[in-house]
Amino acid sequence: MNYYSTRSGKTTAPKTSAEVIKQGLAEDGGLFMPESIPSITIDYIESLCPLTYPKRAAKVLGLFLTDYTESELEDCAKAAYGDNFDGYAAPVSKLVGEDLRVLELWHGPTCAFKDMALQIMPRLLSLALKKTGENRTAHILVATSGDTGKAALEGYKDVEQVKITVFYPEDGVSNMQKRQMITQEGKNVNVCAIKGNFDDAQTGVKQIFADKNTAEKLSEKNMFLSSANSINWGRLAPQVVYYISAYCDLVAEKDIKLGEKVDITVPTGNFGNIFAAYIAKLMGLPVGRLICASNKNNILTDFLNTGVYDRNRAFYTTMSPSMDILISSNLERLLYLVAGPERTKGYMQKLSETGRYEVDADVLAAIKENFSAYYCDEDNCAETIKGIFGKYSYLTDPHTAVAVYAAEQFIKENKTGLKNIVASTASPYKFAADELKSLGVNTYGLGDEDILKKLSDYSKTPIPAPLATLFTKEVRFSGSVGKDKESMEKVVLGQE
Ligand SMILES: *Cc1c(COP(=O)(O)O)cnc(C)c1O
Repeated sequence: MNYYSTRSGKTTAPKTSAEVIKQGLAEDGGLFMPESIPSITIDYIESLCPLTYPKRAAKVLGLFLTDYTESELEDCAKAAYGDNFDGYAAPVSKLVGEDLRVLELWHGPTCAFKDMALQIMPRLLSLALKKTGENRTAHILVATSGDTGKAALEGYKDVEQVKITVFYPEDGVSNMQKRQMITQEGKNVNVCAIKGNFDDAQTGVKQIFADKNTAEKLSEKNMFLSSANSINWGRLAPQVVYYISAYCDLVAEKDIKLGEKVDITVPTGNFGNIFAAYIAKLMGLPVGRLICASNKNNILTDFLNTGVYDRNRAFYTTMSPSMDILISSNLERLLYLVAGPERTKGYMQKLSETGRYEVDADVLAAIKENFSAYYCDEDNCAETIKGIFGKYSYLTDPHTAVAVYAAEQFIKENKTGLKNIVASTASPYKFAADELKSLGVNTYGLGDEDILKKLSDYSKTPIPAPLATLFTKEVRFSGSVGKDKESMEKVVLGQE
């Protein structure tokens, strides 16, 4: 399987999957896509059903990452989705209503769905370095607003031939998120606060990536910079797996018949997770509609309904911070599939020049054939958390609640009669204070640990082990530097 950029298509030289995982972004600024989408039959899906999650993952990934051997992929998947998950990696819960099925993607070490990709991608990168004859160490640089940083640290810790440095805004992450990062274990990890906000951290990291001087200094230390960003194909491919796996589980439990269609709802920020569901559909998974759920930052709802993408708008901070995004990078992959590389390049150019583009009518029509879009404001999100808990004694984190609300709106308007798989992207315990507030429980004066306990007592559910043990862990990284590129670069070069 060859890979090409979304902005050039086959006019540039083909790359292998190992090369694209190592490289991340294409030279022309586009994202890498496989030259074709492999197709799977109903018989093939049936053959996956008796397998474990890691085996299903190895099989599905093998269709995309053809320069990896089956045993390599099996080893990676077994290590990625083993003991570091609390039980089954991606279980489907039937607790929530007639038609909704909640696909819980947060049983990994950081309690958010990014683990599903970031537990396996570092292992794929490590192999990619060998396959491409790279002898330098890959230095992963991350700027984080919270979830990605921790998931990347857990994924890359102690991975051979890799180092990782994470920058987070000193006053811009939640207490829990900060605690998760500064207690990070591993020999090859570094975490540093910067005196600025997330944009400052992101800008600093981008400047370091763009600086040839830094690259040279790192090269002298036998290192090169690499990214763990969600635009990397190595993060997308593992996300296709759990939609196919969830379908298998529903078949195995006789909740659906083999071949029966399901709708899928995904709480969306960067458009990676929902795009993976679309890929699964294109491959041949029996999927009806894909419902894109947004919070108050509803730029995607507007785009999918009107064809106009306009980031010139207010930015809101919400209870579902991982979806507080105005540039959904992975949308470019969808545009490439429906409009081709030339038009995609034009849209992206307009976006960077004016912050706005409008797709052609045929493109919008093609998108609407598969996607629906709804958004959920803060009040509706809180009411959904409370309502679902009241009815089913089931806790949904704010991101998941946004998706449940969107799925309910979709079902009300469309009545497809299909089961609807809702992607659940974080443990409610990651957002315990907002959960309690939404449930109408007073948290006044409580510290972080007591808030977790209160949510546990109230909901009669256990605190996930990775969060419960945080409070006894030693703080390893208390450093903080200025937000200027020079200060950050010193940290990367190990001079600070
Ligand atoms: C990253 C994230 C999302 C958004 O996923 P995208 O792939 O960026 O659309 C949703 N929920 C949570 C909890 C996340 O961490």
